[in-house]
Amino acid sequence: MPRSNLPPSVMKMREDYRSKGFSPFYSGKWHLFLSLFFALGLVIFGFTQIKIESWWQCLFIPITFIIANIVEYVAHRFLLHQSKFKLAYREHTLLHHFFFTHEALEIESTQDFHRVLFSPYAVFFFIFIIGLPVFLLLGFIFGQVVGWVSFIVGVSYYAFYEVVHTCCHLPDKHWVFAFPALRFLKKFHSFHHDLELMKSYNFNVLFPLSDVLFGTYYRK
Ligand SMILES: [Zn+2]
Ligand SMILES: [Zn+2]
Repeated sequence: MPRSNLPPSVMKMREDYRSKGFSPFYSGKWHLFLSLFFALGLVIFGFTQIKIESWWQCLFIPITFIIANIVEYVAHRFLLHQSKFKLAYREHTLLHHFFFTHEALEIESTQDFHRVLFSPYAVFFFIFIIGLPVFLLLGFIFGQVVGWVSFIVGVSYYAFYEVVHTCCHLPDKHWVFAFPALRFLKKFHSFHHDLELMKSYNFNVLFPLSDVLFGTYYRK
């Protein structure tokens, strides 16, 4: 979208944020690269620890995907959009949603990744505070191999979330939208960025499974 077409409130919010929201040394490209490099390192480490012994252990690939999808949904709906969780609410609802509304969903440069990608402490929280107990619990109940399978799937889920969410905030003309799935997910995510709808619909980003399950799937 040309800059002149941005709603004045969004333009002002973006200018204010860019002038004092982050360090002048910040690089959006490095933020994306290091986020994915970190996730890839964890996934490779997971693969070095694993040796599938039985077919049923592979069932935990889709099972962990579904658990991750529900965790994504619950965290987004009941943490990031609840004002009682001040830091998460500020970072997501007040900043991400007012920097990008449904009428102004796209970044203007890769520096705007600052308002799209998770910060390091949020990554730490999601992988180690929420994810790790789930990986350990599954490993404790079903054995070490299942624990590592869930670890690999969980961390991969986070990495794909970051990639897909970033794509949702790219301009329509970007080559990634040669993939119909990404065109669909951008449209789906754009409804969540409508300030009237954001607290009620489309909390999944990567795959709208939980939104369908819990009746919050919105599509015009
Ligand atoms: Zn978004
Ligand atoms: Zn949201």
